[in-house]
This record gives sequence, C-alpha cells and structure tokens, in this order.
Amino acid sequence: MTTTKRTKCPICGKPVEWQNTPARPFCSERCKMIDFGNWVDEEYGVPAEEAQPSLDEIEQSSAAQAGKAQG
Ligand SMILES: [Zn+2]
Repeated sequence: MTTTKRTKCPICGKPVEWQNTPARPFCSERCKMIDFGNWVDEEYGVPAEEAQPSLDEIEQSSAAQAGKAQG
C-alpha cells in the first residue's frame, strides 16, 4: 500500500509532497527560511537590516577601554 502524505506549505499554501520534500512541511528551503525569519523576529524583536559591528571595531573599542582603565 502506497500512500503519499500531502500537506500544505504554511507560508505560501502550495501542496507539499511529504516524501519528496526535504524542506517539509514547507514547499521549499525558501519558505522554510521565511518562516524561520518570522519566529526569530518575534522572539528577539531584532530588525533583520540592522548592521552588526565588525569584529575589528569591537576589538578596537575594548582595547581603548582597557587602556583608559590602566592609565
Ligand atoms: Zn511555500
């Protein structure tokens, strides 16, 4: 007996063939990432476009503070 389990992509509503879709329950990696982005936003409330400081900038500012503390 062969049954193809089907579901609907929660993001775009396309039918998803369970067995042939590695990104299930999403229709594609793309929809999976959209959903992931949604819950990350809700969880942390961080805007996706916010620029992160580079590692160099972090090291320079902590080095500057250490210098002040010593001298
Ligand atoms: Zn989809």
